[in-house]
Amino acid sequence: MQISGEPSFRESVDLMFNRAVKLMDMSPGLEQKIRVCNSTYTVRFGVRLRGKIETFTGYRSVHSEHMEPVKGGIRYALSVNQNEVEALAALMTYKCALVETPFGGSKGGLCIDPRAWDEHELEQITRRFAYELIKRDLINPAQNVPAPDMGTGEREMAWIADQYARMNTTDINAKACVTGKPPHAGGIQGRVEATGRGVQYALREFFRYPEDVAKARLSGGLEGKRVIVQGLGNVGYHAAKFLSEEDGCIITSIIERDGALLSDTGLDVEDVRQWMNANDGLLAGYPKARHVEDGAAVLEEACDLLIPAAMEGVINLGNAARIKAPLIIEAANGPVTYGADEVLRQKGVVIIPDMYANAGGVTVSYFEWVKNLSHIRFGRMQRRAEEARSRLLVEELERLSADQHLGWSLTADFKERFLTGSDELALVRSGLDDTMRTAYQAMRKIWHERDDVEDLRVAAYIVSISRVAATYRSKGL
Ligand code: GLU
Repeated sequence: MQISGEPSFRESVDLMFNRAVKLMDMSPGLEQKIRVCNSTYTVRFGVRLRGKIETFTGYRSVHSEHMEPVKGGIRYALSVNQNEVEALAALMTYKCALVETPFGGSKGGLCIDPRAWDEHELEQITRRFAYELIKRDLINPAQNVPAPDMGTGEREMAWIADQYARMNTTDINAKACVTGKPPHAGGIQGRVEATGRGVQYALREFFRYPEDVAKARLSGGLEGKRVIVQGLGNVGYHAAKFLSEEDGCIITSIIERDGALLSDTGLDVEDVRQWMNANDGLLAGYPKARHVEDGAAVLEEACDLLIPAAMEGVINLGNAARIKAPLIIEAANGPVTYGADEVLRQKGVVIIPDMYANAGGVTVSYFEWVKNLSHIRFGRMQRRAEEARSRLLVEELERLSADQHLGWSLTADFKERFLTGSDELALVRSGLDDTMRTAYQAMRKIWHERDDVEDLRVAAYIVSISRVAATYRSKGL
């Protein structure tokens, strides 16, 4: 979305990059090398559908190959364009560096309204798009590994993986050519909800530091915080669901394509989502909350936390001054424009930036890629060994208690939890939690230690750019 009078999404990302780089000691040559997008491939292809040939336009942009494979989702939307794909590819470079997934940044997109086609037609279109990218190594386990993004999910990734396998029959690592696959087709437990889960872990980590919370003019923990969520797609739905069901947040509003739902006492996210699934993705008519048509105006309502989880550019110069939330977590990519970022900073709003906040997806994609390359599910070797060791300890404690007449008894709940070895989902969550905590700590260190660093976004860029620069330097650039 290009807001009139504001830079494009791509320019916005570059301007944010420039703000950070100004505070770093880097040669102009290296700075320029990191900023630019290495290449963008545009493809136009025809598919025979409903008795005629339909032409589609798709992109795959590679921002930085300082590490390979490069990584990033494929978006299906009518709004997809080269500028957007390049901005998103750049964000992938910085995101991967920040959360230490060993990838360069890439992104793809197809100009299509996925709702306009049925499943079989979408499969034909996806396979044809994948064919065009695979034959140019723009999908390849060692070079370029796509994933889901807006408008795509497990189903599309399974088609892409199958298309790659058909075209590379002897590649033993074929499954690693794409992530976000369904578990039965080489995926990993916990990938679907990973981005939303990552948003939850990011917030939990933020709320572990009272001084950071105070910067947002808030206090206490997540319990009871009033939250507005924009977008109930994969990311917004999971983030809102986990925050309300597990952390005691009150979801006072959900904004979607056809307006917003408002509830002072809090919305039941699962119930709203079920309603949407049964009603063409619309909120209108939902019986348990007030519906208003002007969703954009609800972004400006009072709350403790605002979660934009839909499109880029939704908080812009047109509404930034009226935003009341003291804390924003960017679950979407680029929801706050460069200009709005400046306005919000001056107002003292704390923004947990996209490249960190929504990195849960690519983090679990990394685990999936490693799983595919190692050809074994996480936990398969150690789970029962772990349980056997725990059992030894429990049995020994019980024996001691009986022999010495100590009268100790372990509760059934403790025993069950202690005796359960980690399965794949538990390991994925542990790895994601660790990743989100470690990355936050790297950002906040710079935010707190450097007087010239005002905000978490610049801190995040500094961490990422330094890592990308170090990789380039070690390659002799
Ligand atoms: N599309 C997601 C993102 O923007 C996931 C990318 C991935 O898993 O490679 O981060």
